[in-house]
Amino acid sequence: MEKLNVDPKATRQGTSNLSMARGSLVACSTLLLAMFLLVGLLLTSIAHHLNHDAGEHSRLDIENALLSVEKIAGSTVKDYAFWGDAYQHLHQAIDVEWAFVRQNLGATLFTDLGFQGVFIVDPAGRTVYSVIDGQLQTVAVQDWLHAPIDTLLAQARAAAVNSQSVSRLINAGGTPAVLAAAALTPGTDPDVTADDGPQSVLIFVAKLEPARLEALGRDFGVQGLQVASSDAGSASTPTLQLKDNAGVVQWSSEDPGHQLLVIIVPLVTVAGLIFGLMAWFILRRTTAAARIMDSNYATLQASRAALAVSEERFRDVAEAASDWIWEVDSHLRFTYLSDRFEAITGLVRRECLGLALDELLTSDQGSLSIWFKEHARRANAIVQCNYLSGEGEVRICRLSVREIPGQGYRGTASDITEEVAARRRIEYLSQHDALTGLANRTRMQEFLEGKLKASPTLEKPLVMLSIDLDRFKPVNDLLGHAAGDEVLNQVSRRLQDCLRGDDLVARIGGDEFVLVVADMSSPLEVESLCRRLIDCIEQPFYICEHEVFISASIGIAMAPADATLAEELLRYADIALYEAKDGGRNTWRFYAGDMNARIIERRQLESDLRHAIKNDELRLDFQPRYRIEGKRLAGAEALVRWEHPLRGLLGPDVFIPIAEETGLILPLSNWVLHAACQAAAGWPEDVMISVNLSSTEFQRGHLVARVKSVLAETGLNPARLELELTESVMLNDEKIALSIMLGLKALGVRLLMDDFGTGYSSLSYLRSFPFDGLKIDRSFVGGLTASGGDQSIIQAIVGLGRALSLTVTAEGVETLDQLKALKIVQCDEAQGFYLSMPMNAQAISELITRRMD
Ligand code: C2E
Ligand code: CA
Ligand code: CA
Repeated sequence: MEKLNVDPKATRQGTSNLSMARGSLVACSTLLLAMFLLVGLLLTSIAHHLNHDAGEHSRLDIENALLSVEKIAGSTVKDYAFWGDAYQHLHQAIDVEWAFVRQNLGATLFTDLGFQGVFIVDPAGRTVYSVIDGQLQTVAVQDWLHAPIDTLLAQARAAAVNSQSVSRLINAGGTPAVLAAAALTPGTDPDVTADDGPQSVLIFVAKLEPARLEALGRDFGVQGLQVASSDAGSASTPTLQLKDNAGVVQWSSEDPGHQLLVIIVPLVTVAGLIFGLMAWFILRRTTAAARIMDSNYATLQASRAALAVSEERFRDVAEAASDWIWEVDSHLRFTYLSDRFEAITGLVRRECLGLALDELLTSDQGSLSIWFKEHARRANAIVQCNYLSGEGEVRICRLSVREIPGQGYRGTASDITEEVAARRRIEYLSQHDALTGLANRTRMQEFLEGKLKASPTLEKPLVMLSIDLDRFKPVNDLLGHAAGDEVLNQVSRRLQDCLRGDDLVARIGGDEFVLVVADMSSPLEVESLCRRLIDCIEQPFYICEHEVFISASIGIAMAPADATLAEELLRYADIALYEAKDGGRNTWRFYAGDMNARIIERRQLESDLRHAIKNDELRLDFQPRYRIEGKRLAGAEALVRWEHPLRGLLGPDVFIPIAEETGLILPLSNWVLHAACQAAAGWPEDVMISVNLSSTEFQRGHLVARVKSVLAETGLNPARLELELTESVMLNDEKIALSIMLGLKALGVRLLMDDFGTGYSSLSYLRSFPFDGLKIDRSFVGGLTASGGDQSIIQAIVGLGRALSLTVTAEGVETLDQLKALKIVQCDEAQGFYLSMPMNAQAISELITRRMD
């Protein structure tokens, strides 16, 4: 069982889930925003670059376009200038017919090749031929161009040496124009020879008028190419300064960066919005989740704490209710043993963990592992086990087992070694005489009934011998109880020596023994047994340097000749015993019909008892009961006596059995109850009154109603009345007994179990019936001084009583030693001759009054 640890780190985390979620989301969002800003900047920069690049591109394109126009013009002019025919018709004198009319240098140059101006300048520098816009005109080239041409003429004539023309851009009255010039030469014509001196120069001019310029730009991928307007050079309109100061052109930028921005920016914005929305949504969700997590953490923390507390509580309760807690896995190997394991068992926990169940514990019921598999599934499975303690002694524990489905088993273990020993001892004592170790009356009755069930025959009868020691009382009185006890012990041994193994010797009273003997073939054989028994007992006993002589009287009854019921057989053997004693003792008598005289006597007593109540012959004695601690009077037990007009004072042992048999017990008990309650009503509130109930009263009903009416009549507080019951009450019908007892409890009276330890099952009754107290039978208390060992029994009973929250009273306390011993074992209350003899109503009243003074 792992202890559940509350992780402090988890607690800290738990409390900051919300802020952590918020924090990380804010960070995420910031990162996203920064990313978008960066993308924006990048895009703008890219756009800018794109625009810039595109501008540069356009400029280059324009330059290339103009260059190509220049080149074309240059090469065209060269074709015409370095042509022999042209040299012949134009150099010295202009053959207009050849040139213009025959279209060798006429309008087609304008219409087909686009030269608005075609000029020939003679070696003197005069314009001798000019065709403007396809029309023959007389215009000086420099006038039409509004520009000087001297440099151009010189360059053209110089270039002609290398068969080259010159071309350039010029500004022709605000319009850029391409000008190409070449000196006239015969070219490669072998028939024409050039004369010395300067040559005429042919000039072609192509004005780049708006349409022409735009078309030219378009051919080179530049839109809207035109001469720059006055506001040209603004940011949006790119311009180009043409070389040779030919002017400035502008064009409409295709602005790819802008286009890019136009396309990308909305996309990025939409994406940004979507991201933003998503972030907001996630923030909300995670905040909510974090909040739930926080509250879950809080709940978890709370439930962990609660779990820890309840686990603690469980552990405390489990440990308090048991000695240790264990767990085994599915292979039945120990995986957990609680702290107290070591203290209780003396074994080392570390060494026992991992051991197989069977290695540590054994059971009288065979292999524990098999038992687990067969029984541990049911609720409240309990098994008694043995183990070897650290000190090497065999100890007993009670395991409560519970299956953990699929994982193994767990449960508690309680050391019950002492309890088992005490129980065995109590069981033994309940069947045996504490002094001699012989069977007691209970065991004897059991044995007898068992033998009778085997149906003895006349030929093989069952013989019952009732033996009473003669002259024993003086031994007790003169030499003391110890000597008496020694004699009883020796007698027991001698009796046992006279019998075979399967016969029974029981001690049923102070000096009364019963022998149950089977397989006697004839009365003679029985008589010889009796002789042997008496001879044995007549042998002297040597006790404390005293020579003690006693003898015995024997009464004999036989089944089936005399009776077939155990009780009858016992009574007849008793009757025969009295006959033997009457017959002079030291002898034996067989039961005979004429012995019925005693039965007749009994009948007489029965009829006398009927009048006893009416005639007011019953008396109550009260025997005080004391708290041992502080020696305070706790209460008194009412004991009935009969002042018989002829026989004198009779004890309850004589007439209660008759009353029970005849049903007279009801009026008798009513009288006792009434008289006891009335007497107690006059005592102080803290003094209890105990009244003995007979088991036959339970069977004949109305007990609850009777007690109720007595309480009402006497006005006694029900809490002061205690009813003493023996276990025979419960023997007949447990259910009825329980319901009557619950009825009595409901009245508010207390219930005590009387003569505890003498019955068969006092222990189990104590657990399952609503008793408030128990009275330890005096046979146990008597043993207290004889041998100190009996103290452990009393101790066990006291412990048991304490465990069941019962008041424990010891009866028959006759000596100071016994009282001291009872005090040591912490017995609650005591009653006995040593403390107080039973006394009449007046005496107890005086005693109580004295106590008050
Ligand atoms: P009990 O209930 O065990 O009552 C105690 C008996 O032990 C009483 O005998 C009492 O005198 C005796 N006793 C008290 N202290 C000592 C002691 O220190 N040593 C010895 N050896 N004996 C002691 P008693 O008065 O003869 O009563 C015998 C039994 O008769 C009682 O045993 C009880 O079971 C029954 N009894 C007495 N009165 C009534 C009654 O009113 N109704 C019924 N149904 N039974 C009664
Ligand atoms: Ca009693
Ligand atoms: Ca008793």
